[in-house]
Amino acid sequence: MGSHRFFIKQVGQAPETIRFPGDIAHQIRNVLRLKPDDVVVVMDGEGRAFQVRLTVVAEQETIGKVIEIGEVRSAAPALLHLFFPLSKRDKVEWILQKGTEVGVNAFHPFISERSLVQTPEMNDKRTTRWEAIIREAAEQSGRGRLPDLAQAGSFENAIQTAANANDLILAAWVGEQQGGMQASLAHVKSRMGDQKTPPSIALFIGPEGGFSDREIDHLKAEGAHTVSLGANILRMETAAIVFPALVLYELGSSDPLK
Ligand code: SAM
Repeated sequence: MGSHRFFIKQVGQAPETIRFPGDIAHQIRNVLRLKPDDVVVVMDGEGRAFQVRLTVVAEQETIGKVIEIGEVRSAAPALLHLFFPLSKRDKVEWILQKGTEVGVNAFHPFISERSLVQTPEMNDKRTTRWEAIIREAAEQSGRGRLPDLAQAGSFENAIQTAANANDLILAAWVGEQQGGMQASLAHVKSRMGDQKTPPSIALFIGPEGGFSDREIDHLKAEGAHTVSLGANILRMETAAIVFPALVLYELGSSDPLK
């Protein structure tokens, strides 16, 4: 398959041609300077990959012909849902970009007692920008599937979402003295060979000021395991990347980037 990859959602069931949207057309023509007959890969974000030969690369439109349809297989040992507090814009954008590179499957921003940002402040422009950051990071790092971005919500909603949709909830907590990561993952690890789909794991990171006692109690009441990320206190945005990387490593990913 060609080396340049682009995510385009809703390409249709069995497309014969693909018309590239404006931002990707710009990248193809002006940034990568690709020409007709060059081959690129288009992914629909749901696991299908199309090998596409460019037929028209012009200012008005960029079109390609689908020459092969394939599936993207994931070697990831777990589906990771990262729950993190809303914070300054640059921190959130860093988490979305680096988290996508490391292997996060879904991002769930939340507002908690001590989160720097106390209102969701989500608007169409911001959502579009954050989705574009995820898409570009996924293209750059060779991810086959596009990570989801959930609407920002309350901490309580985040816990409920995590409890409803995941096999395990882990919360990074600086008060955890036992380490806890290996023991918490042992059960999931022992069942991995028997299951057809990888386990889904929710990872919670606290805000700059940490989780409150009430929030830790709430997490534990929903079955969350508290884990340490090591002896040093990491910044919230560092913890948000180290945490999924450690979990993937511990579960033995042969290819954590997919
Ligand atoms: N003083 C804060 C506290 O008491 O939690 C420090 C917060 S830390 C800057 C931000 C978040 O990163 C924490 O809430 C926790 O989720 C995570 N974190 C950072 N370092 C950690 C560590 N060594 N072990 C576990 N979690 C850590």
